[in-house]
Amino acid sequence: MKSIRLAEGREASLLRRHPWIFSGAVAEVQGEPAAGETVAVRAADGRFLAWAAYSPRSQIRARVWTFREAEAVEPPFFHRRLAAALARRRALVDPEARTGYRLVFGEADGLPGVVVDRYGDFLVCQFLSAGAEYWREVLLEGLLALVPCRGIHERSDTAARGKEGLAPRSGTARGEAAPEEVEIVEFGCRFGVDVWRGHKTGFYLDQAENRYRLAALCAGARVLNAFSYTGAFTVAALRAGAEQVVEVDSSASALAASARNLARNGLRGERCQQVRADVFELLRRYRAEGKCFDLVILDPPRFADGRAQLPRAARAYKDLVLNAAPLVAPGGLLVNFSCSAAVDPALFQKITADGFLDADREGRAVAYLTQGPDHPVALSFPESLYLKGLVNRVE
Ligand code: SAH
Repeated sequence: MKSIRLAEGREASLLRRHPWIFSGAVAEVQGEPAAGETVAVRAADGRFLAWAAYSPRSQIRARVWTFREAEAVEPPFFHRRLAAALARRRALVDPEARTGYRLVFGEADGLPGVVVDRYGDFLVCQFLSAGAEYWREVLLEGLLALVPCRGIHERSDTAARGKEGLAPRSGTARGEAAPEEVEIVEFGCRFGVDVWRGHKTGFYLDQAENRYRLAALCAGARVLNAFSYTGAFTVAALRAGAEQVVEVDSSASALAASARNLARNGLRGERCQQVRADVFELLRRYRAEGKCFDLVILDPPRFADGRAQLPRAARAYKDLVLNAAPLVAPGGLLVNFSCSAAVDPALFQKITADGFLDADREGRAVAYLTQGPDHPVALSFPESLYLKGLVNRVE
């Protein structure tokens, strides 16, 4: 039997059902398991702890499939886990309101390294760990059996694959090739999603509920949408009656996709001004010019991949607040997000407070936002909480 034995006292996190086993916790590997193969994880005293996928190249040496010794890690296991993930979405996501949503969110759905998003009739999947890669065929067949779709596209092309010793892979995995843009509906807004080249699997599905909530605050407002990507917040705001939206992104192709999304929703271009610029520089310029908005949205890319980058990330998040707060009309809202898991909610609030302090403005958080219910947080795996947003009233 292939197995790994943990060093003395290193079983504590597993007993709390955390699914990661770091290389430093492993005392002994028995039976020469291949990458992705299932191993029994045992405590120093030999007691069974879990069945896990072995990953010889990664710092995360194994990821737990199940803590139940009697549960066989075979194809039916993966079908059960996929079916459970789908049942969760059926309970939490209205498929009429949203035709794009996350079906499987890795560890948080008991499938470490596996991400599956649904965009209309297409699925987009990522296999990001040695274990996920090992069971790729079984998972693809399971998805085909459980979810009616025209095709499954693969986007296993993230940096996480490299850490697992896996080469990137992308393209059509099953069925029809996805078109250039797959259309989805999100609370009445229509968006084209480029599953071939877009960020992540093509779209920021994790912000869907937040776009809907913020849209409710947009009637008659002058909105600055910074880090606009393909204009999802812009479309939601304009459809909800925003007077004007200025959207800013450094990517010309993202702005072009946003313009297509405006047209797709029958929105006239004159209410939207597109600015291709660096947000950090533009905020300073707008501040010097005395520009004024009722609602400013800051949704930057991930600034910290891990704890090592925390100080630099904190400075960047603070800089955004410091330079955006002066642009908000008294009584207006500054909504700032962070999708860095390494920045926990308390730290994010502190960084935001520091930005207001240096801007000499008063801020009050009137709502706390996070990732939507299709990106659940497993309580035993706090790393699955990554998106934080503060709706700050500015005075
Ligand atoms: N709010 C978007 C997602 C934003 S993703 C949505 O709901 O879909 C982050 C975006 O920031 C990307 O489009 C990227 O091109 C852009 N970006 C990254 N750094 C930037 C910078 N310094 N200035 C302007 N845009 C930047």
